[in-house]
Amino acid sequence: MSNLHCDLFVIGGGSAGVRAARMAAQKGARVVLAEAGALGGTCVNVGCIPKKLYSYAAHFADDFRDAQGFGWQTGEIRFDWAVLKANRAAEITRLNGVYANLLASAGVQVVAGWATLQDANTVQVRTAAGVEHFTARHILVCPGGQPSVPSFPGSEHVVTSDSMFDLDPFPRRLLVVGGGYIACEFASIFNGLGAAVTQLYRGEQVLRGFDDDVRRFTADEMRKHGVDLRTQADVASIAKTASGLVATLTDGSQVEADTILYATGRVPNTRDVGLEAAGVAQGRHGAIVVDAHYQTSVPSIYAAGDVTSRVQLTPVALGEAMVIVDRLFGQGQRGMSYDYIPTAVFTHPNIGTVGFGEAEARERFGQITVFRSEFKALKHTLSGSSERTLVKLIVDTASDRVVGLHMVGADAGEVVQGFAVAMKAGATKAVFDATIGIHPTAAEEFVTMR
Ligand code: NDP
Repeated sequence: MSNLHCDLFVIGGGSAGVRAARMAAQKGARVVLAEAGALGGTCVNVGCIPKKLYSYAAHFADDFRDAQGFGWQTGEIRFDWAVLKANRAAEITRLNGVYANLLASAGVQVVAGWATLQDANTVQVRTAAGVEHFTARHILVCPGGQPSVPSFPGSEHVVTSDSMFDLDPFPRRLLVVGGGYIACEFASIFNGLGAAVTQLYRGEQVLRGFDDDVRRFTADEMRKHGVDLRTQADVASIAKTASGLVATLTDGSQVEADTILYATGRVPNTRDVGLEAAGVAQGRHGAIVVDAHYQTSVPSIYAAGDVTSRVQLTPVALGEAMVIVDRLFGQGQRGMSYDYIPTAVFTHPNIGTVGFGEAEARERFGQITVFRSEFKALKHTLSGSSERTLVKLIVDTASDRVVGLHMVGADAGEVVQGFAVAMKAGATKAVFDATIGIHPTAAEEFVTMR
């Protein structure tokens, strides 16, 4: 095997790929990574990072309003979209460089080009200079995912989340279709930045999969913040007119917009990766099928991250990458637990959640006890904002274990991350009750609910 080019060939320089390449190289493996686009993948370039920066930008709208109740005279306020775009672009370029440096200093060879599997141990990379072939003991396939848009009359006029960061000009009227993470986040962000936002969701309530209280509460808050959120609504067709775009809904009504964002889910990036040539088995939407060790149907080929279509979250992809590296180049035989994965949705206000929703917990545990509190955060006693906060705990009555923890409110993601450690450690309601709160915070509600 020593005549092979490398111990590990990584296809895709996103969250999973960069982490795996770097960790493997640090353990002494010879690693080559191929990436056709910018290093950092979806998260760094068109996902988590720029989205969160834009979410901060949008929050200033609330802050300027809230400040007045605290005595601040803010004067005329103007938002400059071009400045935000330029500053974001510069920061993302800086991060691309940080990733390149991390890989280089770990000793990873980075090849800029499109990689295609040839067989169980060979990868072809098409670079600007031509075609190169690499042989590898192990191959990790992590090319990520991409937005998926249904096909219907006029669907060529819509954009996906990939385009939202560089829109030109700023959309005064934005129509968002979908009710998942991405739709709700962009609806909140562009509403905060000053667009008139209409959001359409085909079902009864947005954010399917989240606790029902959280879904209802978030939808109400988004409406209070100004998003025209309509449920059981869907687009039949879209036409371009002299003044923009007109979406005709299935009920015959129309919505005019400058930009129409379709945030209707993401599918694995498996086209032209050579999975068929190598004999790698695929499942729904082409997702690569892996076992508990992320090994595909071809023993030398592993896959991680969004291409496996399991849990599409950056920290999960990072965790998977580290388990794979441990197994291949370390002592580790550990798996990764998918229980109690905390997550945040950067709507305004944010959602932070870990564990089971109420309905799901009832089904799983039978007897549960629910603690719920809804209140106006201290800040808003002076700000004049009508924003409210929701906190909710779900306890398995038999074991007293806290099995669900949910928050809709300022910095919910920051709050829930810490509690996720306690939940992962199996904390009971008695432990929560014995914990002293930090006063005055919204988070203290979690340890004072009786
Ligand atoms: P989601 O799967 O979360 O949501 C897709 C939404 O689009 C659902 O509301 C779905 O409705 C709706 N939909 C699907 N098909 C159609 C259609 N043909 N017509 C109309 N509506 C449709 O996908 P997202 O694209 O929002 O996000 C993908 C994943 O990325 C997330 O699941 C999450 O894992 C990750 N992500 C995480 C973030 C975070 O951590 N903060 C932020 C952004 C993304 P229905 O419910 O009826 O199926």
